[in-house]
Order: sequence, then structure tokens, then C-alpha cells
Amino acid sequence: MQNLKTLSREIKEFLGERPDIVVTNHQNPDGDAVGSATALSGVLMQLGFRVKMIMPNDYSANLKWMSLSEEVLFYDQSEMEADQIISNANLLIHLDYNHPARSGKMERVIRESSAKKLMIDHHQQPDDFCDWRYSDTSMSSTCEMVWHFLAALEWTDLVTKDLAEALYAGIATDTGNFRFSATSPLTHRVAAQLLEKGVESQKVASRIYDSNTLSRFQLLGRMLNQMELVPELHAAIMHLSQSDLDECGFVKGDTEGFVNYGLSLQEVEVAVIILPRDDRFKMSFRSKTSFDVNQFARNYFSGGGHKNAAGGISDQNLSDTIAHLKESLHKHLDEITAYAQNP
Ligand code: 5GP
Ligand code: MN
Repeated sequence: MQNLKTLSREIKEFLGERPDIVVTNHQNPDGDAVGSATALSGVLMQLGFRVKMIMPNDYSANLKWMSLSEEVLFYDQSEMEADQIISNANLLIHLDYNHPARSGKMERVIRESSAKKLMIDHHQQPDDFCDWRYSDTSMSSTCEMVWHFLAALEWTDLVTKDLAEALYAGIATDTGNFRFSATSPLTHRVAAQLLEKGVESQKVASRIYDSNTLSRFQLLGRMLNQMELVPELHAAIMHLSQSDLDECGFVKGDTEGFVNYGLSLQEVEVAVIILPRDDRFKMSFRSKTSFDVNQFARNYFSGGGHKNAAGGISDQNLSDTIAHLKESLHKHLDEITAYAQNP
């Protein structure tokens, strides 16, 4: 990690050149991605910068309340316009991802851009594609890091209640509501400072979580019925097929968090959900204690993420994907068993 003080001093100096700024994040943006992008952009806009937020694709409806949400440009809907804006930008800010491939179809234009690049991210094994890299895998969330970044720049006074709510939402969602192990005393201190900005935590939680749809519940029912528990692997394997999605009237965001149901089973150390996406399968991996799903996803499913939460893809059909998954887990049987027995 570059020292945050040095990095922020260099950024401040570069901002003196009044660059055109583009703020981006990863494909299928989650609460942390949207919260960090809108909040940081909001502060930069108040300082008079020209800032565009460009995300690879749309995000779920329960995050649309965030301030500046309506100003986001989605790459898959406005590719030509977005290409032009990115090509003309002088500074690209990459939030909540650490490899250009995580931005999907935006990868090419990002790689080709001659703009200065700043990464703020908390995922494992960052790629070296940025001029400035604020990467810290011990951090709870990119939203927490944006707060530290703004503090280093002495700009936290510019965080309004609305922007604070976006940051708070990102921290809350990425930590499973302050539950996951990366939730540190510092995370709580940042959350406290956001609350002091007027964040109404109950309202934020309600906007995010009291947003269930009937289709989500129907899909959840199917998923739970189809869930396979593999006791010797301490694994819960879940899936939904394209016809499950079609028959239940799937809308974006409906399966968010489903993987955690498997993880919450007694004696399960690793939970996996397999979901159709764009003619492939998207996989989500979670572990309860020490099994490193980031490394597992990298090794077997072209993915990555964090130690306890990662994602990947499979180009095989569903039954081959499940077979490959079980085989791969079997290779780590001793490790998984040891973790499950000594959490
Ligand atoms: P989710 O399972 O919720 O999609 O993702 C869990 C974590 O892994 C998130 O932090 C997400 O950014 C990361 N992640 C998800 N899919 C991928 C992937 O295909 N590659 C990498 N490197 N990270 C991923
Ligand atoms: Mn995150």
C-alpha cells in the first residue's frame, strides 16, 4: 500500500490541475460500490470538479435512493458516450475493484486511457494498473476507505447527511451489518462519525432490507428446497436454473445474500451458490472461518474477492459445474474439516 498521507498529498496536487474526473466501479455494483462512488463524487462536485460516474451495468432498486444515483451512466446502456467521456478524462478513480477485468466491458477503454488512475479498494491481490493505489485488505469496505481518504485530504466537512448515508450503507452492507471479521474498532469509529453527520440508520436499513419482492421470496423457496448439504465437505451447495428465474419473474437483486442461508447452517464451513448469468454461471463463495475462498475461487473458477467472500464463473453446464466444485473442494478436505472442527 502507498502511504495514505503521501498519496493524498500527491492527489491534492494533481487536482490543482482541475482534471476531468471519471469515477468507476465493478460489474454488478453492490452497496459498497455505489455508496463509495456517489459519496466521493458528491464531495468532488461540491469542490467544483467535473465528475462523471460510469458503472459497467445497473444495480438493484434498493440502492437507488442514494444521492446522485440518477446521474450514473451505465456502460452497457451508453457505450459510445461512456467511451468518449473516459477517453477525454484526466483522472479515473477505480472504487471497490482492483483489476480492470472486474469492470467487464469497460476493461478495454480503461486500459487504453491515458488518464492518471487512482484505485481505492479492499480486495485481495491488487493488480498494478494504477498510478496511485490505496489498497488495504484489512479494511471493512471501500466506503470506510473513502472516509479515511477524505479525512487525509481534510474534506470530511464536505460530507453532507445524504453522502454520509451512502457511505454508511456501503459499510453496513459490506460488513453484514457490522458482523464480519473485517469490522474493526476503526470501522465503528467511522460509522459513529457518519451518524454524527445525521445518518438515520434505521431508515437506511429499512430502504435496503425492507425491499423484498414476491419473486425474491419464491426464488428463495426454490433455492432452499434444492439446497444440497454435503456433510463430509462441511459444504452447502445452492443453485437456481434459468427456468427458476424465468418462472418466478426474477428481477435484479432478487438473489442478493441468498448464499448466506447455506453458510448459516450448523457445521457448514463453506457455502456456494451457482446462478445463471449471460450464458454462463456466476458463483458466489462464502466461508465461515479460515477457509480462503478468495484463493479457492482464483484457483478453480477464474475469480477472486476476499478470504471469506469471493466470486467466480463457470463455463460448464450446471451438473458439470457442481461436479467440478465438489472435486475441487475434496482437494481441500483436510483443511475444511480442520476449520469446521476448530472454528
Ligand atoms: P459476490 O459473491 O457477492 O458477488 O462477491 C463477493 C466478493 O467477491 C465481492 O467483494 C466481489 O467484489 C468479489 N467478486 C465477485 N465475483 C468476482 C470475480 O469474478 N472475480 C473477482 N476477482 N472478484 C469477484
Ligand atoms: Mn466492497
